[in-house]
Amino acid sequence: VGIDLGTTNSLVGTVIEGGVRLFADKTGAELMPSVVGIDGSGALIVGRAARNRRVIDPDGTAVSVKRLMGKDVNVRVGDQQLTPAQVSALILGALLDRAQEQLGTRPSRAIITVPAWFDDTQREATRTAGELAGLQVERLVNEPTAAAVHYQTGSEAVVLVYDFGGGTFDVSILDRDEGFLEVRASRGDTQLGGDDIDRALCDLVLSRLGDARRRVEADKHALTRLVEAVERAKIALSERDEVRLFDPFLAGEGGDAVHLDLPLTRQDVEDCARPFVEKTLVCIDEALRDAHLDASKLDRVLLVGGSSKMPVVERMVADHLQRPVVVDPEADRAVALGASLLAGRAAGADVQEVLIDITPHTLAIGAAGSEGTPVSIDDLDAVPIIPRDTVVPVERTETFFTMLENQPVVEAPVVQGEEDFVGDNTWLGMIRVEDLPPSPVHSPVEVVFKYLLQTLHALR
Ligand code: ADP
Ligand code: MG
Repeated sequence: VGIDLGTTNSLVGTVIEGGVRLFADKTGAELMPSVVGIDGSGALIVGRAARNRRVIDPDGTAVSVKRLMGKDVNVRVGDQQLTPAQVSALILGALLDRAQEQLGTRPSRAIITVPAWFDDTQREATRTAGELAGLQVERLVNEPTAAAVHYQTGSEAVVLVYDFGGGTFDVSILDRDEGFLEVRASRGDTQLGGDDIDRALCDLVLSRLGDARRRVEADKHALTRLVEAVERAKIALSERDEVRLFDPFLAGEGGDAVHLDLPLTRQDVEDCARPFVEKTLVCIDEALRDAHLDASKLDRVLLVGGSSKMPVVERMVADHLQRPVVVDPEADRAVALGASLLAGRAAGADVQEVLIDITPHTLAIGAAGSEGTPVSIDDLDAVPIIPRDTVVPVERTETFFTMLENQPVVEAPVVQGEEDFVGDNTWLGMIRVEDLPPSPVHSPVEVVFKYLLQTLHALR
């Protein structure tokens, strides 16, 4: 199966009889909220039921856990403390239940999508989640890549994929050449999405509540309900110009109760969304720069993700790039549809396209500069070996020099990231080579990094 393990919503699908199919729940919904909680009897619940329970139990319900992937934190679910990977495994399990009901067997192998911006730690946590759910994770695929696979732009050479979801934003530039789909550049923000717009809208609504504001703010339950009412209104305002926010007895009781009853307009949503959309435009420019491309060289600009359904997004991106853009008609399913197609191919269907992925972060080792050895490892220079956005597979060699005569050991930290000093990047590990033969000072030490590609084999 192919799985879009989203911050807000998750989906699962596969190829059946030559066609991509997403699995729906009993009500026909393909999007499953990425929410885990417990019901009245203390049993774990996942998806829509958990999302609905959030109003009753905001503290015991885990939402947007994807934002915590790879971090050393615990997430509360009911009375339990779980790791982000464990919570994600429960979400994956619920998706597998759904697939099993319709397939008759439980899927054992999966392709899971991740934001292109995810670092190794976040990717590793995603793999762990899959394994905890009993899956063999064949491959992690970048979300924008999956969306582009779904869109199958055929003759187009250069495609920019803009994915604006609930909690993460990604932009990738893909290059299609004789059936090869290559990611040229990828940028994004793991802390940017529709959730931010909901919060800004909430603040706006609170500021219009007058005296009642403090009572709503003091009541977590009421606040949760307000966020939900605001999100529903935001979604409706993608189609309409004005809606009424209506939720009686939002806070307090009896004659003293606060009733929510306010108009909200598309203009309000756009005012709240604008600063966040502007941040996405900055990412677009960075990705274009990384790819050494001018916007005029893009053959297609494809907008996906639920938040791309807001008309202001399409307008601002088109204005910024000075060219027409398309919003995928299946904006919030495109990633899952692409992942499902890839999963079908991995399971043996014909391959017309081969994916080439890129390194999302620079891989570097720590080395002492010309001023000699700094006091701490953190202060070593991070010397890039494989720069970000290099097409994989790749092999790069850099030469360093020993600092002592008859130096017996060479030791260097390996980090990923774009910062100048080791301590400001993400730590991957330490390489240590011992028992060096006697040699003069400044003897060369070659460091070789290889990034291997499983894609070609997986797809074939
Ligand atoms: P993720 O990839 O983060 O799981 P999705 O792509 O499913 O997220 O998008 C979820 C986000 O899209 C939510 O913030 C939701 O409010 C927003 N969204 C969904 N539909 C619409 C719509 N029609 N108009 C505006 N926002 C929408
Ligand atoms: Mg998504």
